[in-house]
Amino acid sequence: MVAGPSGAGKDTLIKRALQVVPRARLSISATTRAPREGEEHGRDYHFLTEDEFDRLVGEGAFLEWARVFSGRYGTLSSDVEKMRDEGIDVILEIDVQGALQVKDKLPDARFVFIMPSSLEVLEERLRRRGLDSEPEIGKRLGIAPKEIEIGKREFDVIIVNDELEKATEELVSVLKGEGV
Ligand code: 5GP
Repeated sequence: MVAGPSGAGKDTLIKRALQVVPRARLSISATTRAPREGEEHGRDYHFLTEDEFDRLVGEGAFLEWARVFSGRYGTLSSDVEKMRDEGIDVILEIDVQGALQVKDKLPDARFVFIMPSSLEVLEERLRRRGLDSEPEIGKRLGIAPKEIEIGKREFDVIIVNDELEKATEELVSVLKGEGV
């Protein structure tokens, strides 16, 4: 389980760590937010309409789901079960609300929180990556202090992403079950 504020560098860290830990794989979430340029259905997310998402919620198909910023995001139980049956170590990259929902359901999961070195750095990263509109960036920054507070309180491992190389090594250690 990997969570942390938007812009903390979760995607980059996970991608780098996956190159070193072949038995781990990232679960593809479902979302109602619109695809960004270059994103593909089934690779980055399962992009769903509000109705499709509602239907899956009604069917109890989600291991967890949450409203994050301007959309709903959720992890499909069937995806996670399939990977686990294949012996894959599943990484869930989800927000803190979703993470708290799975705490009871996945007692053996490790909770890793990716922390930016400061809120200023977070703001700079969100602006620099240029993926989100100003109001969206504002929402993402506004929620970060609360997420950090929950991360510090509820998560097993906190990785401060101030140096990419060091942070990657820390995540790799967790994925290999070595702890940090
Ligand atoms: P983005 O819109 O930048 O792709 O993702 C926004 C946030 O949604 C991320 O910080 C990520 O943690 C969260 N997120 C992505 N997938 C899921 C999911 O399946 N469940 C939950 N609860 N949050 C998710």
